[in-house]
Amino acid sequence: MSDASLLALYGGTFDPIHYGHLKSVEALARQVLLRGVTIMPNNVPPHRPQPEASSEQRKAMIELAIAGNPLFTLDDRELSRSTPSWTVETLEQLRAEIGHSQPLAFIIGQDSLLSLHRWNRWEELLSLCHLLVTQRPGYPLAMETPEQQAWLAQNITDSVATLHQQPSGKVFLAQTPLYDISATVIRQRLEENQPCDDLLPPEVLAFILQHGLYR
Ligand code: ATP
Repeated sequence: MSDASLLALYGGTFDPIHYGHLKSVEALARQVLLRGVTIMPNNVPPHRPQPEASSEQRKAMIELAIAGNPLFTLDDRELSRSTPSWTVETLEQLRAEIGHSQPLAFIIGQDSLLSLHRWNRWEELLSLCHLLVTQRPGYPLAMETPEQQAWLAQNITDSVATLHQQPSGKVFLAQTPLYDISATVIRQRLEENQPCDDLLPPEVLAFILQHGLYR
């Protein structure tokens, strides 16, 4: 097994990026032997609630959070598009660049797994990538319906080797530590002038305060 072969992407709004993102993915990377993780902030569709920070600010906060951490890189392709980010389209675009035999994974939290069936063309995702799922406190471990549970049972793997060998098609539920942190709670705490020091990197917090974000 080559431990360099699996590419991993991590999508999200990152409004702002926090330790729940960073630490759970670092733990995942150790488990799955990921050499690198590409963080890909998304461009939120106009009909959804918009991020409070601008695209440039979300990007700047990610850059600050990952500076000096060789695990992470940033891909801003979705931010520089004027159209909404549909993960399936981004994955198709990437497949056109890297081909269909390269093992590729998309990282999501447990909450995103539970709502996956509401994603655009969700049934096609596993034809394009694996899904690596980090645990998140407060969300059930079982899917909402028997059909979704059957879909999970059909595609789940606990084999790291399989993730590195097959290009796509598997769901891996990682045993990551639980971080009870969300961007929503951070935004609320900042609005109420409560401390957030344990929740996100100091450089990101300094940026937020300097730019008067989330007040
Ligand atoms: P918000 O509170 O604004 O909805 P969020 O904290 O959930 O934001 P996102 O940017 O929406 O952050 O999340 C990007 C990805 O990170 C999602 O797949 C989400 O499940 C995952 N994630 C976010 N927070 C955690 C956490 N504390 N532990 C594990 N995964 C997380």
